[in-house]
Amino acid sequence: MSKTKYVFVTGGVTSSLGKGIIAASLAKLLQTRGYKTTIQKFDPYINVDPGTMNPYEHGECYVTNDGAETDLDLGHYERFLNIPTSQANNVTTGRIYQTVINNEREGKYLGKTVQVIPHITDEIKRRMLLLGESGEYDVVITELGGTVGDIESLPYVEAVRQLRWELGIDDTCVIHLTLVPYLKAAGELKTKPTQHSVKGLQELGVQPDILVCRTEHKLTPEIRKKVALFCNVNQNAVIESIDVSSIYEVPLVMLKEKLDKVTLSKLRLSTKTEPDLDKWKDFLFKLRHPKWEVNIGLVGKYVELQDAYKSISEAFNHAGAMNECVVNVHSIHSESITKDNVADKIKDLDGVLVAPGFGDRGIEGKIATIQYLRENNIPFFGICLGMQCAVIEYGINVLGLKGAHSIEMSPRTKHPVIALMESQKKVKNKGGTMRLGAYDCDITKGTLAHKVYGKVNIKERHRHRYEFNNKYKKQYEEKGMVMSGINPTNDLVEIVELPDHPFFIGVQFHPELKSTVDNPHPLFVKFVKASLENTK
Ligand code: GLN
Repeated sequence: MSKTKYVFVTGGVTSSLGKGIIAASLAKLLQTRGYKTTIQKFDPYINVDPGTMNPYEHGECYVTNDGAETDLDLGHYERFLNIPTSQANNVTTGRIYQTVINNEREGKYLGKTVQVIPHITDEIKRRMLLLGESGEYDVVITELGGTVGDIESLPYVEAVRQLRWELGIDDTCVIHLTLVPYLKAAGELKTKPTQHSVKGLQELGVQPDILVCRTEHKLTPEIRKKVALFCNVNQNAVIESIDVSSIYEVPLVMLKEKLDKVTLSKLRLSTKTEPDLDKWKDFLFKLRHPKWEVNIGLVGKYVELQDAYKSISEAFNHAGAMNECVVNVHSIHSESITKDNVADKIKDLDGVLVAPGFGDRGIEGKIATIQYLRENNIPFFGICLGMQCAVIEYGINVLGLKGAHSIEMSPRTKHPVIALMESQKKVKNKGGTMRLGAYDCDITKGTLAHKVYGKVNIKERHRHRYEFNNKYKKQYEEKGMVMSGINPTNDLVEIVELPDHPFFIGVQFHPELKSTVDNPHPLFVKFVKASLENTK
């Protein structure tokens, strides 16, 4: 195929309608029909990236192989498509303005007034086309963050309007996701919010080709007809997106509604090859028909927020399906755990994951949890800060290093077993300056990590400033902790484990970011397996 086609996904009425999942589902259907497809997200906020926002603001910060800190929707894209995303897949208003302002300072617009139109919109368009210009993709799906009608979304909608004319109407397709609410008192589905939000788009010069209607009840033929008539779309382009119990069902629901077919015919692309969804269906079957059940604790400080550990909970879904079991994830606030109540908090759990994080809030609870898991042979899996806490706990309770801690929480500790990385010492800015992205890790043969991965060279993604302090390495090893994964270039400890324990492993990286439906992450798969074996 010669020309790249562009699909734009906008949202109306309210946020949180699941644009990311719809975009990822459509991409999955196109991909399984043989079209090389990628997705990118444009976010209308002014932060250059979400890296400095806390999870309460933004949910999880997803990290790509090339070290971009991005929106969590990119996690969905990767989990659905099983192909890596990159910095180019997530653009924010902050990044657009930063580029334009840098250009202005360099004198690239010399003599001109720099304006939202054309300079900002040109930069948006340039970035919208970037992935397509690589020649790697048949279809590029662009999700616009925010809701149509927001002031901050205006330049993006304008960029879409311009691109439709520049690229040609047959090479672009606009899908608008809206809400069709059900009024209980009237016993009716209501189309007016959809009509208004489409009108909002039309006023900006953009006519959507397809409407995806999020709804709690089935759309009747009359409702479809009405929406089509008032919004200028074909009736077959009114797609019902009914609530389902798992995000992984959405591609099949969209297949049934023919979202892929309607999109392809709009783009003048062949619909001859049917999507090959055997693997996906196999995964879904296992997800829906578990044979066993396992209870896993997730100890963290953002547990009240559903999106804060998104990739971790999805990785558990993938690993559960692999193990043919349902994984009940029990969130426990680390601040609520003390040495005295830890036994009680953990008594019904088969395994515990100690979550990543920053700062000292809840740190004592994490350490108390790990000590209990270690001493009582309960499977433990620590990620990033979770691994660092395992090192601290072992230092205090096994090595007898009184007051051992991380420099992050206790800058004057006598035993900085977790220290600031050398490369971080000169860093002043907070944004984008952590150790980010994929790095190599060499695994020692015969260790648990080796058994889990089945190989000795791996690459995993990172997001941290602190590391295991190698000055203490010998002491730890003498007392039985095995440093089973090491970065070959700078000797940084990436994996720690305890051989005399059914399953005790901590990793400095974030394996959850690489778990996909097609490739569940081995660490999660084996941790769930170990927890299953521990079921009481
Ligand atoms: N706060 C720790 C560090 O910066 C751990 C980070 C994390 O858990 N992602 O090293």
